[in-house]
Amino acid sequence: MTAQIIDGKAFAANLRERVGVLATEFEAKSGRKAGLAVVLVGDDPASQVYVASKGKATIAAGMASFEHKLPGSTTQDALEALVKSLNADPAVDGILVQLPLPAHLDDKAVIALIDPDKDVDGLTDTNIARLANQQDGLFPCTPFGCMMMLEDRLGDLSGKDAVVIGRSQLVGRPMAQLLTNANATVTVAHSRTKDLPAVVRRADIVVAAVGRPGMVKGDWIKPGATVIDVGINRLPPEPGKDKGRLVGDVAFAEAVEVAGAITPVPGGVGPMTIAVLLRNALVAAYRHEAIALAKGAI
Ligand code: NDP
Repeated sequence: MTAQIIDGKAFAANLRERVGVLATEFEAKSGRKAGLAVVLVGDDPASQVYVASKGKATIAAGMASFEHKLPGSTTQDALEALVKSLNADPAVDGILVQLPLPAHLDDKAVIALIDPDKDVDGLTDTNIARLANQQDGLFPCTPFGCMMMLEDRLGDLSGKDAVVIGRSQLVGRPMAQLLTNANATVTVAHSRTKDLPAVVRRADIVVAAVGRPGMVKGDWIKPGATVIDVGINRLPPEPGKDKGRLVGDVAFAEAVEVAGAITPVPGGVGPMTIAVLLRNALVAAYRHEAIALAKGAI
């Protein structure tokens, strides 16, 4: 039996549509569009592509996009001054500083300056504490999107055994916290974990966020488990092609034969990340203007 494929593209399109409807309602109620500011420093090609697609998606959802492109030579003071001005700007509901920053800049100091209520990436200490304390806040987009897909497939996660492979600030840690808050029994695995295959075999839910192509093998998966593959890895190009294939952290062809459901790469978690970013910006806008938004509406 092969696993159900969790269609992240369709899921993301649905979320973006719901965000669009609520963005229109927001504009009608507040007299302005919800606004997301994206700050890009330098000319890293991948970051430029991400920022452009975030801007396009923001406008497509009926929100205002403020793009700030700064040269690679920008100083810490200039970047901090920009973040402070965005904090103070009433038209800006969400602020995203595209990472990584050029090496001469201190990303932690910049993130610490972002108003936590505009911190749509959920990276400030305040939002990390809110997540740990089970309070409302803004939480990292990728793990939040994974939770949405898991709850859609499995409903209540209470008592499920979940293994998160990876413990980064951006993905693994917040993922484990979100699952814990949803009453799953969570194991966080990482590079020092002993006998990872045995740890993964216990899990009803596997979230792989490592950055190693095909690391999680089919025979690590408990039959029927739900597998969320966060990894995005580009393989070396095949002869005659200029770009290699994108693959996840899970050996998909093997895992699909064992799992109950699995996200593909590409087309799984990836598309959800921008959709959740829009969701976070809109939630921030509703809170900013103190307009009620039904819990779980998006
Ligand atoms: P990091 O490199 O920050 O973290 C990787 C984690 O994997 C670390 O905790 C590390 O452990 C762990 N790890 C490394 N090797 C092993 C191993 N052999 N066994 C078990 N654990 C291991 O990566 P990110 O969390 O930022 O990203 C993970 C993946 O997700 C990447 O492929 C990235 O491209 C992708 N990604 C995808 C997104 C999307 O939108 N779909 C968004 C963000 C990331 P330790 O802590 O011990 O070093």
